[in-house]
Amino acid sequence: MTKKRTLSEIKKKIELGAATVISVQEFIDRINNGEKVGFEDIDIVTTATKGLMSGIMGIFSFRLSPPKTLRKFTNITINGIQAFPGPCPNEYLGIADLIVYGTAQSKTRVNYCGGSLFRELVEGKPVEIIAESSEGEKLERFLTLDEMQFAKLMGTRQAIKNYNAMINCESYNVDTIFSCLPFEPNKTQITFSGCGALNPFQNDPNFESLGVGTPLLVNGSLGYLMGPGTRNYIEKPNMMTIAPMKGMKPEYLGAFRTSYGLEPICSLAIPIPILNERIFKNIVKSDKDVPLTILSLVGREKVGEITYNDVWDNNFAMKFNSEACKACKECKVENVCPTNAFIFKNDKVIAIDRTRCFNCGSCVRICPKAFKLDMKNIQFEGKLLPIVLRQSDRYGAIKLAEELKTMILKGEFPLKEPTGPLDFSQSIK
Ligand code: SF4
Ligand code: SF4
Repeated sequence: MTKKRTLSEIKKKIELGAATVISVQEFIDRINNGEKVGFEDIDIVTTATKGLMSGIMGIFSFRLSPPKTLRKFTNITINGIQAFPGPCPNEYLGIADLIVYGTAQSKTRVNYCGGSLFRELVEGKPVEIIAESSEGEKLERFLTLDEMQFAKLMGTRQAIKNYNAMINCESYNVDTIFSCLPFEPNKTQITFSGCGALNPFQNDPNFESLGVGTPLLVNGSLGYLMGPGTRNYIEKPNMMTIAPMKGMKPEYLGAFRTSYGLEPICSLAIPIPILNERIFKNIVKSDKDVPLTILSLVGREKVGEITYNDVWDNNFAMKFNSEACKACKECKVENVCPTNAFIFKNDKVIAIDRTRCFNCGSCVRICPKAFKLDMKNIQFEGKLLPIVLRQSDRYGAIKLAEELKTMILKGEFPLKEPTGPLDFSQSIK
């Protein structure tokens, strides 16, 4: 007979302190340690992902002037980033509704995009708003997140069921969002994205647990899954989510500099209640079971396939040895870090801001004396190619999955059945 348990039964166990909640990483580690883990042993598994998510945007509403003074705001920038006022005009109310893209680049700040802005708001920093009304009147205000009536982060395409690795098969360097430095030619290096076994869709391939209205964490703040996102298809699903910015943690978001501009960072964590044996069977037990397709950077043709076990192997966090810097005459890594995580003193790196570090590995390549991280090499067409960049931060994803687990066990996370299934019938490749 098929074994089952209900969400109410799991909630009861949580209340009694008798539930077992573990992250997918913990599940894999236990199996690798020779433990036998079965359906009876786990009530909930937490999944997560942290990566570059171009599809995020901020939706805001705040007061800029007293009522009855100005008709509506027609042009607004925040820290030099062009916003989209509306859609509601809020006539004569003095309130602006607006949308800011995570990928939008600032015209007044260097290396600053919507992702940088969202992080600064979450950090509690005031942001500079310059607005123009339909009458041509200009005003400037500084507001913090706490002073905004409405601030939510919405994602149009997130947590894609893993992504790809890239190789430049051309004979010339390519500036691209898939590389921090110009991508070197002639199949000499690899970059990749995706948190592998930890990815939510990877652990619920039949959408038995994930659905419309599933509660989740977006950058640490409680939000909801709204449905399938843009350009999804059944083999490569993704999701739309929404969550308030208040309650987010800066370490889970921000901006990542590539050789073709800045991309926003975002992190999600989602629980999968183990309601039956089928759901349990689909929980990923090894990164070896998760394929990673290698694409040619220009044209995106498939040129190879490996698994996430070839790239993720308990090599999650970069280690920094500041001792190496003491004897160093000239620092070579000044502009290398895509998230500005280096803390400099007298032109030398003295520490790493761990709330910014994405464990991407860019620094390791330039200065292996001070930065240590097993970035792995991939066998490709008879040659060993080095992985030079990771555009997903599995370490950060594991941390968020652990936070979600703690919240569930403390009864601080509202476990709910979805209100409806995820419908991929309108999917387009
Ligand atoms: S990070 Fe590397 S290059 Fe920079 S000071 Fe330290 S040892 Fe020298
Ligand atoms: S691994 Fe190095 S280059 Fe990458 S984010 Fe961390 S400090 Fe910056």
